[in-house]
Amino acid sequence: VLLRVLAAGVCHTDLYFMSMDASRLPFRLPATMGHEGVGVVEELGPGVTEAASGLIPDQPYAVFAAWGCGQCGPCARGAENYCTRAARLGIRPPGLGTDGAMADYLLVDDSRHLVSIGELPPTEAVALTDAVLTPYHAIKGERDRLGPGSMCVVIGIGGLGHAAVQVLRATTETTIVAVDVRAEKLALATSLGAEHAWVADATTAAAILDLTGGVGADVVLDFVGTPETTTLSLESSRINGSIVMVGSSGGVIPIAVGSTPYGLRARSVYWGGLDDLHEVVSLAQQGVVKVHAELHPLVDAAAVYDKLAAGQVTGRAVLVP
Ligand SMILES: [Zn+2]
Ligand SMILES: [Zn+2]
Repeated sequence: VLLRVLAAGVCHTDLYFMSMDASRLPFRLPATMGHEGVGVVEELGPGVTEAASGLIPDQPYAVFAAWGCGQCGPCARGAENYCTRAARLGIRPPGLGTDGAMADYLLVDDSRHLVSIGELPPTEAVALTDAVLTPYHAIKGERDRLGPGSMCVVIGIGGLGHAAVQVLRATTETTIVAVDVRAEKLALATSLGAEHAWVADATTAAAILDLTGGVGADVVLDFVGTPETTTLSLESSRINGSIVMVGSSGGVIPIAVGSTPYGLRARSVYWGGLDDLHEVVSLAQQGVVKVHAELHPLVDAAAVYDKLAAGQVTGRAVLVP
């Protein structure tokens, strides 16, 4: 399906790949960036029919970009982000190896990878495909530990973290503790529904224990993933707690019988599933999850990446062709 792009999101992950030496990249250059995209159907390729695909011309669609093979067990359940065959088959997400959404047009490999956004503005919906989808997927896997009386710590209130606070508020009954090294991010977390918002320092783990009568947090969502944040995650976790690692910056969670809380569950997560994206779009349509979008023309992409690298983007930077 050929899409005419209406909006493309700018993600921190892109900076990571752009900082790598070309010889270490898992794909060949040149490559077009943009793994968050929304567009309208321009043309259907051979083998795709309007009737079978359900695609409506002139209707905006969000692109599900964690492409899988569509045939293996995880793919059959919609969990294409955990496709067992994608790496072997050389299937790469658009914007991360396959040409992405920072262009006038985007070629999508299968109509199942398009999710209708209905009346949502494309520039607001585009960040649902990663900045909201990824925390949504992380939280969905922990719902059994996020009931009434539970406590969830969110580390890092950036693009994904501020979406996580909204998803927790909308889909669980947990008490939210937001933690960030930058004080200016904390007001945002509070306005989105976090009960507590703290600047991370040497006392944070003790404060979390204090708040829970010495027990610890039920779930810690780590959107940073440095050695400092993984230490904080471990020190704040309760027996039968969970640590979900979303950020990756050199931190490691070692688990051993006796030295870590019993029953501790640690997971690394990658993006989200197709089923998750349908649910995220539905939450946005209900108005309970909203990503602040900062719009820029596509031609300014390079300058926008500089801005992102300098920590000067509020919410999500979105490029418009
Ligand atoms: Zn991303
Ligand atoms: Zn698969």
